[in-house]
Amino acid sequence: MTAQAVQQDELVAVIGLEVHVQLETDTKIFCGCSTEQDDAEPNTYTCPVCLGLPGALPVLNEAAVESAVKVGKAIDADIPEETRFHRKNYFYPDLPKGFQITQYDAPVCQDGELEIEVGGERRTVGIQRAHLEEDPGSLQHQGGNIDTADYTLVDYNRAGVPLMEIVTDPDFRSAEEVRAFLAKLEEVLEYLGVFDSARDGSLRVDANLSIVSGEEVDDVSGIDEATLESANRTEVKNISSHKGAEKALAYEETRQKNAIQRGREVEQETRHWDETRGITVSMRSKEAEKDYRYFREADLPPLQVSDWKEKLSIPELPDDRRERFRAEYGLSEEAASKLTSTKQVADFYEDVAETFDPDLAATWVADNLLGELNYRDMAITDVEERLDEFTRLVELVAEDEITTKNAEEVVLREMLDEGDDPEAIIEREGLGKADSGEVEVAVEDAIDENPDAVEDYHAGEGGALNFLVGQVMQKTGGSADPGAVNELLRERLEE
Ligand code: ZN
Ligand code: MN
Repeated sequence: MTAQAVQQDELVAVIGLEVHVQLETDTKIFCGCSTEQDDAEPNTYTCPVCLGLPGALPVLNEAAVESAVKVGKAIDADIPEETRFHRKNYFYPDLPKGFQITQYDAPVCQDGELEIEVGGERRTVGIQRAHLEEDPGSLQHQGGNIDTADYTLVDYNRAGVPLMEIVTDPDFRSAEEVRAFLAKLEEVLEYLGVFDSARDGSLRVDANLSIVSGEEVDDVSGIDEATLESANRTEVKNISSHKGAEKALAYEETRQKNAIQRGREVEQETRHWDETRGITVSMRSKEAEKDYRYFREADLPPLQVSDWKEKLSIPELPDDRRERFRAEYGLSEEAASKLTSTKQVADFYEDVAETFDPDLAATWVADNLLGELNYRDMAITDVEERLDEFTRLVELVAEDEITTKNAEEVVLREMLDEGDDPEAIIEREGLGKADSGEVEVAVEDAIDENPDAVEDYHAGEGGALNFLVGQVMQKTGGSADPGAVNELLRERLEE
C-alpha cells in the first residue's frame, strides 16, 4: 500500500468486501444443468442434484475449478496442494438441501492481491481468500418486500450456478476505492474469459464498513484487528454494481460519521442497500449468524489443484497490456487505456496494427469504431463477426481509395446502421476517390463558372479560395481530397 497521510483527528472509513461473481461455465457446478437460461420459465433448469433430492450426488465441474485457478493466478494468490469442499448449514427456502456446498478451511485461492488506481495513486488491495461455491435459488416475494409480501415463490434455476466468493482485507478507505476495485476486478475476470459483466446478477457485493479515528489507521500497515473488532461495523448487503457500491458506501460512511459526531453509538447490524431510494435500511438481525456448523462435504473428494496452476495459462492482463501498448506502439496513456478496455478490443487493435500504421490503427479502433459503437450503445462483441470488414475499411483509407472524412462520416456509420460491407457502401454512395483527371476538370469548371470569385481571389480576399474549393468538392461529390484541390486551384489561378 502506498503511504497516504491520514489526518490524525479525522474519522476514517475502513471497508472490506465480500464479492460474489458468477463464473462463466456451460453447466452448473455440481450437475449437468445448463447455465444458459435466457428468459426461462422458473424451475425448468433443474435436476435431482440441484434440487437437493435425497440420494442425488454432486459431481464437480472441472471448468469451474479451472476458472478459479486462473483467477488465483491473476490475483497472485497461493493455490494450495489440495482444496476441499464443506457444507455450510442453514435453513432457508432458497437452499433445497438445507446446506450450501462451499469451501471453508482449504479454499482454492488464498492471500492474493489486486492493484487499483484512484486519483492518480496506486494502491494494493489484499485478497484474503477466494473460494468456489454454489449459488442458492432465488426467492420472489409477491405483493411486497421480504417483510410485507403475501407469499413467496422460489425458483431453483439459479441453484447450483458456480460462484466465486472473493473476500478482501479491510483495505479500502473510501467508497471511490471500492468502485475502482470492482471495476478492476471485473476487467481482470473478463480478460480471463471467466466472467460476463453484462449477465444479470453476475456481481453481488456485501461490504463491511466501520468508522475509526484517523489515529488508529496507519496506511502502510493497515489497521490492527483489535481496533477493528472494537469499532462497531455494519454489513451492507444487496449491492449489485460498482456504481451501487460507491453510492451505498458513501451513504453509509456519512450516516455513521454523523452518528459519531453527534455522540450516538453506531449499531452493529446488517443493512440492506435500497437502490431505488438510495439509502441503506436496517434489516432484522438474523439469529446465530455465525453458526453455520461447517463440516466436510463427504460426497466430494479433496481435489489436488497444485499442478493445475502449471497446466493452465492466463492471457496478458490489462495493466501489463496497457504498458506494453504504450511502449510498443508509442500510444498515449488515454489511447492505450481505451484500447485495452476489453480483451476483444485489445486483440482487434493488435490485429489492425500488425498490418497498418499503429497510430492510424489507434485512431480507427479507439476513436472511430469504439466511438460509433458507444453512440449506438453497442460493444465490440456485437460486431465480432464483422471485424474483417472494419479492417478492410482501414485498408481503403490507408491506400487512399477513399477520403478519411467519407470513411468516418459515411461508410463506418452506414456499416453499423445498415450492416453493409464497406465496398458496397462506397459503390452505392459513389464515394470512390475522384481520379486526378476528374478533379482537374472540376477545377477548370469551377474557375470558368465563377469569374467573380476569381476576381476576388486576385484582389486578395481569403474567402474566395475557400469558396472555389467548396465548388470543386461539390462537383466531385466530396470524393476529392480538399488539400489537393486547394493546391491545384492556387496553381491554376496563378497561371
Ligand atoms: Zn441440476
Ligand atoms: Mn458466499
